[in-house]
Amino acid sequence: MDAGPRLKAAVKRALKHGAAIPGKVVRCAEPCLRILTYHSVGTRKHDMNVAPEDFRAQMEWLAASHEVLPLAAGVEAGRGIAVTFDDGYRDNLTNAAPVLQALGIPATVFVVTGRLGQTLDLGDHAGASGLMTWDEVREIRRMGVLVGAHTVSHRRLAALNEAEQRAEIEGAARHIEQHLGQPAAGFAYPFGAAADYNALSVRIVRECGFPVAASNRYGGNRPGADRWQLRRIWIDATDTLPTFKAKVNGELDLLALLDSRVGLWCRRAFNRSLGIR
Ligand SMILES: [Zn+2]
Repeated sequence: MDAGPRLKAAVKRALKHGAAIPGKVVRCAEPCLRILTYHSVGTRKHDMNVAPEDFRAQMEWLAASHEVLPLAAGVEAGRGIAVTFDDGYRDNLTNAAPVLQALGIPATVFVVTGRLGQTLDLGDHAGASGLMTWDEVREIRRMGVLVGAHTVSHRRLAALNEAEQRAEIEGAARHIEQHLGQPAAGFAYPFGAAADYNALSVRIVRECGFPVAASNRYGGNRPGADRWQLRRIWIDATDTLPTFKAKVNGELDLLALLDSRVGLWCRRAFNRSLGIR
């Protein structure tokens, strides 16, 4: 199936009309908080890896053009942009944090607390890139990056019973308190699509006292949005600076419709059809 031209036309229309689909998804009207999701920023061979030079260009444009807030502050304000990283790759410390620090951009990294110092090698997250050690997590925190939890072992919460979910969520909160001497800045659901966590996961996250929790359901967050099921906007290897800008500006909020495995495939195919890696 050659979906490229049709998708290209659809997104062109979406860009022109603010991604409005009558009665379904409309462009998030201002004010609106948009939370960006990154994974590794390095040389990992993976769709979710962003090249360091692309990351720098994205952050330079962001710092010059938008108000970037710490995640919880953004939720309180109901506007602005927040920057987050999932998993806790070592290259977040070596490649991303120096750029963030130089530009004064606040960010949060959600770490897999039981896998630090090892590699994360599962499904969509496969790759050779190592995760930070606790020493390195403390170092990235000293550079101004807030630290949140991404469970103990990155299991798909929706597939777990209550005791297992509690072990993953409470355990991660406890690890962060023990190793950093302060509560986690927030929580991110592993994988994070609507099918990857459930109402029980949300309840446990709230009971554990996490101030905010982020999914990977695509989209912006209007004031009053559920702070324990925040939507995010994934940034990955297929994004160029123009698509990055369109996402940050809400011109691709249409992609909320593509919050599925098929949708993700379509989006990447579309990016590639534009000649983007
Ligand atoms: Zn993850």
